[in-house]
Amino acid sequence: MKLPADSTILLVEDNHINQRLAVLTINVLALKCDVASNGREAFEMYQEKKYNLILMDMQMPVMNGVESTKMIRAFEKESGSSHRAYIVALTGSEPSEMKDICLEAGMDDFIEKPIRTEWLRTLLA
Ligand SMILES: [Mg+2]
Repeated sequence: MKLPADSTILLVEDNHINQRLAVLTINVLALKCDVASNGREAFEMYQEKKYNLILMDMQMPVMNGVESTKMIRAFEKESGSSHRAYIVALTGSEPSEMKDICLEAGMDDFIEKPIRTEWLRTLLA
């Protein structure tokens, strides 16, 4: 999967250190991103702005990554727009069954944290 180089990016991460690290990694490629601190916030922001890429942490307070993704996918369906965000789960030490849960929720891919510059460079061709 390749996304446009000018993709709008939403980072969804509750941990401040991980948040800072991810933003720095994104900035290394001269890219910018908006930041949400939980799944609920991400869903609200997505309703306002059609992000191309959503980097979604799994474990967050208020609303986790799986629930947020389900809501985003339902919103996309209901809005009738052809826009579809590419959602990547950011996993920590979650068990491997998480992979199936991510895909079932409507995520497109999953990577282990931290986000690597090379991976992002390849995705945003
Ligand atoms: Mg977390």
